[in-house]
Amino acid sequence: MALNDTLRHKGMRKKLVSSLKTKGIRDQNILDAIGKIPRHLFMESTFINFAYKDQAFPIGAGQTISQPYTVAFQTQLLQIEKNEKILEVGTGSGYQAAVLVELGVKVFTIERQKELYTRVQKFLPEIGYNPAIFFGDGYKGLPDFAPFDKILVTAGATFVPEELKNQLKIGGRLVIPVGNSKRQEMTVITRITENIFKTEKYGGFIFVPLLKGTVNV
Ligand code: SAH
Repeated sequence: MALNDTLRHKGMRKKLVSSLKTKGIRDQNILDAIGKIPRHLFMESTFINFAYKDQAFPIGAGQTISQPYTVAFQTQLLQIEKNEKILEVGTGSGYQAAVLVELGVKVFTIERQKELYTRVQKFLPEIGYNPAIFFGDGYKGLPDFAPFDKILVTAGATFVPEELKNQLKIGGRLVIPVGNSKRQEMTVITRITENIFKTEKYGGFIFVPLLKGTVNV
């Protein structure tokens, strides 16, 4: 794949960023990250011309790269501060992980599909992003690297996994879409004390499902 980022791509990114502003994304650091990252390189060649539309697209293995608005919205909900330790569940194309790296945090990301994991592990360093990438079942989080300041789940869950709540620091936030296969409610869980968690809801989204176990091909 030619790792080409042209003026035309840059122009299209600018338009995408202004459309995200219109839709209510206010965090300038997030807008800057989206304005900088060559999203077209994260997509299959068939879809490259659509890379800067505010839509989700297939990335192989039956999965999708999230719509830019969704990436921005979830990232905004994390309320990121520099140098925090963040776990992303659902690496997918690696795009969301790149956005997090741009925000100056320590990123750990986990993917259950070997095919996607292998591709991202090669691709992200090629374009200058070096999060820690893991192959495994994100339902379990990453106990060896816990606790995290923030945890972001980028697939739709039917319930909130206890393991993820338990891997949050006190004061930490878990952003996770929760619902059925047709609609999930964007949910933010804040760990107030060791045993007290606060739950807030931020409207409906549609994600590919958070699934148990791993796929080894
Ligand atoms: N954040 C991604 C969006 C990926 S879509 C991006 O920026 O492109 C959701 C991803 O979650 C898919 O790749 C899917 O394989 C993965 N996934 C689903 N269940 C998972 C689990 N239990 N653990 C880890 N990854 C999971």
